[in-house]
Amino acid sequence: TELSLIRNFSIIAHIDHGKSTLADRLIQRTGGLSDREMSAQVLDNMDIEKERGITIKAQTVRLNYTAKDGQTYALNLMDTPGHVDFAYEVSRSLAACEGALLVVDAAQGVEAQTLANVYQSIEHDHEIVPVINKIDLPAAEPEKVRAEIEDIIGIDASEAVMASAKSGIGIDEVLEAIVTKIPPPKGMRDKPLTAMLVDSWYDPYLGVVILVRVIDGVIRKGLQVKFMQGGTEHLIDRVGAFTPKRIDLPELGPGEIGFITAQIKEVEQAKVGDTVTTVKGGATQALPGYKEVQPVVFCGLFPVDAADFEKLRESIGRLRLNDASFSFEMESSAALGFGFRCGFLGLLHLEIIQERLSREYDLDLITTAPSVVYRLTMTDGGIKELHNPADMPDPVKIAEMEEPWIKATIYTPDEYLGSILKLCQDRRGIQLDLTYIGGRAQVTYELPLNEVVFDFYDRLKSISRGYASFDYEQIGLREGDLVMMNILVNNEPVDALSMIVHRSQAEARGRGLVERLKELIPRHMFKVPIQAAIGAKVIARETISAMRKDVTAKCYGGDISRKKKLLDKQKEGKKRMREYGNVSIPQEAFIAALRMG
Ligand code: GDP
Ligand code: MG
Repeated sequence: TELSLIRNFSIIAHIDHGKSTLADRLIQRTGGLSDREMSAQVLDNMDIEKERGITIKAQTVRLNYTAKDGQTYALNLMDTPGHVDFAYEVSRSLAACEGALLVVDAAQGVEAQTLANVYQSIEHDHEIVPVINKIDLPAAEPEKVRAEIEDIIGIDASEAVMASAKSGIGIDEVLEAIVTKIPPPKGMRDKPLTAMLVDSWYDPYLGVVILVRVIDGVIRKGLQVKFMQGGTEHLIDRVGAFTPKRIDLPELGPGEIGFITAQIKEVEQAKVGDTVTTVKGGATQALPGYKEVQPVVFCGLFPVDAADFEKLRESIGRLRLNDASFSFEMESSAALGFGFRCGFLGLLHLEIIQERLSREYDLDLITTAPSVVYRLTMTDGGIKELHNPADMPDPVKIAEMEEPWIKATIYTPDEYLGSILKLCQDRRGIQLDLTYIGGRAQVTYELPLNEVVFDFYDRLKSISRGYASFDYEQIGLREGDLVMMNILVNNEPVDALSMIVHRSQAEARGRGLVERLKELIPRHMFKVPIQAAIGAKVIARETISAMRKDVTAKCYGGDISRKKKLLDKQKEGKKRMREYGNVSIPQEAFIAALRMG
């Protein structure tokens, strides 16, 4: 395709502002799919994506649009991941485009996540086309939102498109704005091939499918290419695009976005941000912006039923085929037996993997308390990275312990500000900035990541009834007065519940945890003490009193089928329990460790 007839753009929107609905409308209007093929929200194709309304993998569709000027354009719409955990993927997707549609909900206005993405988009020199969506809503205030876009983001919104993706209003205007406002890509056909690897995923029929944006040169079937960062060489066996149906193409030229396959078996070999060039006469310099992604949150995943270990190994291996950003290694726990220590980009990423394992692979899992990576300087001068509280060395051998910090931007309506400031303060936050724009406040805090991985996001959402938005970036390590807290059930340490906490938080956290465990662990025939301890010092304690448990007693020996039902139920309950010495701990108790306040 000729450069002047190509437009590459992404859609930036806060969750729920209508990105997917608008994308679907654009696909429908340009005839990419028949009405019958338009299942709701084509782009979000994973069940979890649909339910949570977020995009996890970048996806691109090519739309052919005949504009008012009579020319037919190839529009490449790139859907970007919608969560802070996937910020790097977002940055690479944006780097593949020349412009962006900024979709803002006419009733909600600009939110923190929108801001973070818009600033990135501006950094990539994008032409930004504001789209004020949901103008059909009775609560819509499009003029107010237009002013907000200008005041807060600082871009001209006088020509913002007024749209309702749901009712199909303003869709043609959006398409015309893409063609007339967003510049075509630049690039040279005669230069050596340079293409950016935007995303990769595993397809059971095609192997690893790689989404690329060609900068210069041409990519075609039969070409021997190399990945400059990964250092591997591959023979291209297929070139094409998604419309959203997969079509094969003879080649992808400068400025084009499409996919390639090259008999690659693992996504790990196709890293996001890598540069694809030819083996012969290729580019000498890789594209800027490549980064090796590192997991930041770690936790242990153990099968509830030890017999499921092999199944877990296989399932984790399969998920990993499709997601190179998550890591795993085998781990054994005194209490939980064999499982895996897994690394994630953030808590949402953790939840997604955990959910997929239980849903798609039908596994009952115990998740241990998530932990960040600590850096230890030992008294003998050695440096250790600590991914697992269970590996914590004897504190007398540690000279210094450092933890990762983040800079968080929170954007909230005024009325919730007080509670949010308190939450940040409770989590050892350091306030950097507080500004008001309209009836809203934008507050910036430095926070230890350790305080955020527990339940910060959930708390923020519940405090603000979902109105506050949150975005963060990592800002490096800082020394902290950190201690290892152990939980003892019936005087036995439960390693899965051990965690590293700041000394000032230990007591409150320990108390919360033992109180919750007291409610979650059923009574036994004997008294069960539950304690939180730092070293030998007990900082919180609860006791579950003894009870004789006979579930069938209630049945008065009469109704046999009812009795059987009860027994089955109890068996079921057992399956989801974990035996610790002679105490049974239900699966929920482990997850509760994540949810405490
Ligand atoms: P995304 O998270 O940005 O992808 O948002 P979705 O496209 O999934 O939309 C979120 C919700 O808003 C869905 O329930 C949509 O049906 C609804 N929605 C999207 N666009 C409009 C619109 O123009 N008007 C109204 N009333 N609802 C809309
Ligand atoms: Mg969506």
